[in-house]
Amino acid sequence: MIKNIFLPFMVIVWVLIGGSLSAKDSYQRDPNVDIIHYCFRVQLNDSTDRIEGSADITFSLAKTTQELRLDLAGLNDKGAGMVVERVEAGGQTLLWHHENKRLGIEIPDTLSAPGIHSITVTYSGIPADGLVISKNKYGDRTFFADNWPDRARNWIPCVDHPSDKATVEFIVTAPGRYTIVSNGIPAAVYPVNKGTNQRNLVSSWKEEVPVPTKVMVFGAADFAWETAGYSKGIPVQSWVYAQDRLPGFLDYRPAVEIVTFYQDLIGPYSYKKLANVQSKTMFGGMENSGCIFYYEKSVTGKNNLQGLLAHEIAHQWFGDAVTEGDWHHIWLSEGFATYLEACYADSMLAGRNLSDNMAEMRKSVIRYHEKTHKPVIDTTIVNNMELLSANSYQKGAWVLHMLRQELGDELFWSGIRAFYATYRDRNAMSSDLQSVMEQVSGRKLDNFFRQWLEIPGQPVIQWSWTYDEKKKWVEIDIEQMQDQYDFEFDLTLGFSGMQTESGPGNPKSTLAKVHVGNKKEHFTLPVDFRVTEIKLDPGTGLLFQEF
Ligand SMILES: [Zn+2]
Repeated sequence: MIKNIFLPFMVIVWVLIGGSLSAKDSYQRDPNVDIIHYCFRVQLNDSTDRIEGSADITFSLAKTTQELRLDLAGLNDKGAGMVVERVEAGGQTLLWHHENKRLGIEIPDTLSAPGIHSITVTYSGIPADGLVISKNKYGDRTFFADNWPDRARNWIPCVDHPSDKATVEFIVTAPGRYTIVSNGIPAAVYPVNKGTNQRNLVSSWKEEVPVPTKVMVFGAADFAWETAGYSKGIPVQSWVYAQDRLPGFLDYRPAVEIVTFYQDLIGPYSYKKLANVQSKTMFGGMENSGCIFYYEKSVTGKNNLQGLLAHEIAHQWFGDAVTEGDWHHIWLSEGFATYLEACYADSMLAGRNLSDNMAEMRKSVIRYHEKTHKPVIDTTIVNNMELLSANSYQKGAWVLHMLRQELGDELFWSGIRAFYATYRDRNAMSSDLQSVMEQVSGRKLDNFFRQWLEIPGQPVIQWSWTYDEKKKWVEIDIEQMQDQYDFEFDLTLGFSGMQTESGPGNPKSTLAKVHVGNKKEHFTLPVDFRVTEIKLDPGTGLLFQEF
């Protein structure tokens, strides 16, 4: 079979090229431009899905620049999409061209020098995606932004990539029956009539911490909301459809305790409030910063959302505050959220212990590998929706779980806290996590990070053993059967058997750890009782499969 033969060759070349712990995805970035702040004005109405928008964009130029490139989806063949009406700066009208979802704005000399500048883009249209305008489960009209991965460009002009974080303000004008929720805190709400008998409300929200466009949102609906509680002074709110007030408040209330759990475990929460919002997101949950959207049917009144809440709230720390600098490093968001959810469940939820959870996740990782043979950092992915895989979630969680075994609880958690403290409200790559963990532990972790993030698959172990009653030792042979790479790892062995010296024999058990670094290994381990059974990895600390 060719592919297999080809595969090992491929991997070797790849490692030589120095791997992808810091490789960049295909998004065309402009290193000269850094967006600092967005102020989005959006006008909604009930007669059409057309929005009127204007965006004040403040940006800094590192070098003289003739063109500012933004992402904005223009008209598609169904007539949906945004049409730019005007681009201005300091009262001056600027020239632009808008094609292929890119808005290129010619920067006049007055604005091209290095430093901080602002422009305003006025536009309108029917969003093809990104802003979901629809009826909710009660048949009521609602508006919910749903930007992940890079769908924000369908309704706001922006640098639509996680590597360019900025502060944001939404000023939403909508018919009076809508309540608006968004990132940050409310700055103002006031009525306007615009010469019609339609009473509109203007609601403005401000987020003063830089966040990526994937989580810049607002929701407009007939909401009921409450402050469920405070976590170290941070208000934790529940925003649900008015009809779902009681079951919704019940289901979202555990969020308070979850925020406190993570504040204690990792570090301070980055935003001024957390709203948990029933919405029309296409995902089970979407971790918008300070304003998490959950699928509308999540509200049942059964108070069984702790897992989902724990996952999305963990993203406030990893995904929102610490954001992957590149789509291919999304495990820094999804792997972290998946692992932290499991840690929360292990500590706070009955019957959800970590090793059972990890054993379940291990099965998903192995199943996914059988189908795809791809590494966690898969630079071949161009359609970002494919990033939502068991490699990003469960295998990402396993990388953290094994790092915890490797370094021990204390060093691991202080490494996680140091990583958060260092990259909070900024971007990070996998190589940054490695450096922090190396600093904290004083150990070189190249091989660990490379083999678990850049090599597809996991060890496939074939093994056999004998017990020598006379010599009182176990002989064990281990062979790695996967053909793409010989992994290096510690393997715990669980011995159980009978102590025979003192009479009929009482059951005995013990553990031993061996280090596997080659395709074939042979170990001789003294055990002072007659071994009848050996279990590989009894504590569920290694991502492997038995041959
Ligand atoms: Zn997630």
